[in-house]
Amino acid sequence: MMERRPLRIVELFQSLQGEGANSGRLMIFIRLAGCNLNCAFCDTSFDRVEMEWSPEQLLEEIVRRYPTCKNILWTGGEPTLQLSEEVVSFFTSAGYWQALESNGLVPAPRGLDYITLSPKVKWENVAENYRDRVVGELRFPIAVGDTLPIIEKLPKALHYYLSPIFDGEQVVAENIRYCQQLIEKDPRWSLSLQMHKLIGIR
Ligand code: SF4
Repeated sequence: MMERRPLRIVELFQSLQGEGANSGRLMIFIRLAGCNLNCAFCDTSFDRVEMEWSPEQLLEEIVRRYPTCKNILWTGGEPTLQLSEEVVSFFTSAGYWQALESNGLVPAPRGLDYITLSPKVKWENVAENYRDRVVGELRFPIAVGDTLPIIEKLPKALHYYLSPIFDGEQVVAENIRYCQQLIEKDPRWSLSLQMHKLIGIR
């Protein structure tokens, strides 16, 4: 039976995915409230709950607002704190492809179509939560001087991305050059730019 606990949602909007392997794909972004970290550089208001909806209410709203899109991106905050296997299965049954963006400290529910892990701290501990799984991508925000995580100690992934940190919406050329140097040292990594900032979309 579907759980009745409402999902606490900060934001619901449709846009093009701006980062990683799914860049350019039309997505319904569902930002769930709450996080298990408190990063100094965090720019997301993940505690401002705007909607408390059951999965059925959320589905109804999505169909009404975005009738053509069948791709969902669960994000946060940290979406694994709320997202359950039942909720994922409910949206799969309704015909949705579902991706998740997580810091990796809590294992993601089964049944998702694509997982992006972006560990902010303790990346050495994330592999433990994904021992028997291959995720879509690992993505690390990088600024000049940051050390490159050791791929062998990360969960297995289809893509390993370095994402140069922007200054607000502005490109920081030094961070891009630094990422390029890291990639030249270990070409298993590649560059992911926050395209949405460059082209001025959400
Ligand atoms: S994990 Fe993400 S949402 Fe949570 S505090 Fe860190 S940057 Fe913010």
